[in-house]
Amino acid sequence: MSEPISRREFLHVTAAAGAFGSLGFAPGLDLAPPSIVQRQAGAVEAPGGWFDRPMRWAQLTLVENDPGRFDPQFWLDYFRRLHADAATLSAGGIVAYYPTQIPLHHRSDSLGDGDPFGTLVAGCRALDMNVVARTDPHAARENVRQAHPDWISTTAAGEPRRHWANPDLWITCALGPYNFEFMDQVHREIVAKYQVDGIFGNRWSPQGGDCYCVHCERNFKAASGRALPRISDRRDPGRRAYLEWRTARLTELWKHWDASIRAIRPGARFIPNGPPNMKTAGELAEIQFADYQARRGLTPPWANGRRAKEFRSVMGSRPVGGIFSVGLEEPYRWKDSVQSEPEVKLWVAEGTANGMRPWVTKFSGVLYDRRWMPIVERIYDWHYRHERYLRNERPLARVALLHSEQTEAFHPGVAEGDRPGDHMLGMYHALVEMRVPFELVHEAFLTPDRLDAFKLLVLADAAALSEAQCAAIREFVKRGGSVLATLASSLFDESGVRRADFGLADVFGVSFAGRIEGPMHNSYVSLDADPSTGARHPILDGLEGTPRIVNGVFRVEVRPSQAFPSPLTLIPSYPDLPMEDVYPRVQRTETRELYLRDLGRSRVAYFPWDIDRTFWDVLSVDHLRLLKNAVAWACNEPQPVAVEGPGIVDVTAWRQRDSMTVHLVNLTNPMMMKGPLRESIPVGPLTARIRLPEGTRPSKVQLLTAGAVVTTEPVNGTLRVVVPSVDVHEVIAIDL
Ligand SMILES: [Zn+2]
Repeated sequence: MSEPISRREFLHVTAAAGAFGSLGFAPGLDLAPPSIVQRQAGAVEAPGGWFDRPMRWAQLTLVENDPGRFDPQFWLDYFRRLHADAATLSAGGIVAYYPTQIPLHHRSDSLGDGDPFGTLVAGCRALDMNVVARTDPHAARENVRQAHPDWISTTAAGEPRRHWANPDLWITCALGPYNFEFMDQVHREIVAKYQVDGIFGNRWSPQGGDCYCVHCERNFKAASGRALPRISDRRDPGRRAYLEWRTARLTELWKHWDASIRAIRPGARFIPNGPPNMKTAGELAEIQFADYQARRGLTPPWANGRRAKEFRSVMGSRPVGGIFSVGLEEPYRWKDSVQSEPEVKLWVAEGTANGMRPWVTKFSGVLYDRRWMPIVERIYDWHYRHERYLRNERPLARVALLHSEQTEAFHPGVAEGDRPGDHMLGMYHALVEMRVPFELVHEAFLTPDRLDAFKLLVLADAAALSEAQCAAIREFVKRGGSVLATLASSLFDESGVRRADFGLADVFGVSFAGRIEGPMHNSYVSLDADPSTGARHPILDGLEGTPRIVNGVFRVEVRPSQAFPSPLTLIPSYPDLPMEDVYPRVQRTETRELYLRDLGRSRVAYFPWDIDRTFWDVLSVDHLRLLKNAVAWACNEPQPVAVEGPGIVDVTAWRQRDSMTVHLVNLTNPMMMKGPLRESIPVGPLTARIRLPEGTRPSKVQLLTAGAVVTTEPVNGTLRVVVPSVDVHEVIAIDL
């Protein structure tokens, strides 16, 4: 979804903003209290509500002229064939698809005496589906502007804001009475009339740019004492105050709408498409949906799995749905397009392997290109048949990567050219290539119950951390956890202000020496044997045959505060032109490029350079090898699953009530980094060595996609399973 707004600022409040993560799995960790849901018929649902019931979602977004032209039964038949157990259906907002009684709530011009929303709701109920009503408040018509000019978003120049894609419409102010009063009334009417299970709010946050309307001006002044800011630098205090106010206002709107809905139907909820931020989702939501519909441009296929991990990092075991579309999601917005089957399958497989429940979204009740329909049917049929093995209770990963929203928001990088998001991308890609199952943990939830499921916490240039977050990481290490960190991790506070020293200086065993170097050209790291024994550290395994490998591009100068081994030392930059001058001026230094602390149970590995960012930039195999060795050394225990064989395979491992699963998603493809895939290219055989949970014995082992039962016996608690071939997605399912 593209719009002319700052991507960084709107990252968490717009739909499908791009590639961008808990793990308290006990139900008791959920913050919202369990509730009893009254179904229409008066039957009482289980405590905890309906949220965990649906496994497969379908969304139909109607267009203005659909009523009278589209066939509701066609869609209901399709939902049945999909075994979809929940639907999201267009109800109101920009256009009402039911006979609304609310003044200024625009009925579809084609509505006549019809009620297509009501027809679809009744049809879905007959299929025993949960139903959520979709509203979209972000635009309104001229008559609305004339009646309430103050409901319309206002530009910095004081002009009402026209819709960027349809100039007949006006953008509404998201933070004023249009949403708080008018849309609240719409939501109440829909819930009262149709008794739906929830309202899904699309584009409910500010759209098209900051609003300078009278309400925003007055409310921000009352909250902060300031005038609305006119600069966009997030580190500006006025800007920062505005962003905090906007998040608070959206959170208030969420709670306001939710309370109105619950007052009418206690089991129903307001479900935002995109929470104000991930922390708020973790605090408020009982169910969330990741609106990341397909790849665009250069995007690795694991980006959808990453989005699943991001949501899980705040949601824990609460359900997360993955919204996918079947068309191209490029900036040119061909909304009526259809992608190739391998592309759609891989995108959904990444979501499923990472714990998301599929949600197919299609707009327009009248179809042009129907090639997507059997594709989604095949995906959903597989999902339906294997549902038992997809109701996950918890992941079995022992490695966690810190997801720092603060760093994304308030740390612009250490210097020009250091894009902070690239550190995460590089580390994520390296972990996928290592085939190490891993989770994301969120900075706002670094509690022992969430962290202690893991052996290793990875800080991929997690630059902006608060004192409390550093303390939580320090305590994790004291409890036996290991840490792998890079570059400027903890060198800045939560608002992006540089500290005199790392917040985690004591954990790393080094202090900041005051200088950050880079971008460096033509610098190397020397691979050094221990001078007393002549042996190489295991961190250098696989890097035989060379005295040095390439360095990164940015490095932080540090002073060790204790003794360290020296397996990697700096070879400083030297001229890269003219060729006559390209020779090292300094052959070797005593400056370490890796600090390894062995504390017994815990181990700490700190790279004072951007190995992760450089890896994303140039994908050096030597850096991958080094990172892989560092993860293995810091974990100091076998991974829950080790997979051997060719290809690039995303590996995840899960526990269900009576089983465990290992998902293998085959990413091996010439179109891996930029789709769409032309074909799936099978890889295999793959050999998986799976550590069984303590005290369990397998009673049955299956390959779900191949439809094969595997005969194998555990040896010392490890099960060896040979998977002959993986096309897109295979699941090793082990009944316990
Ligand atoms: Zn406004």
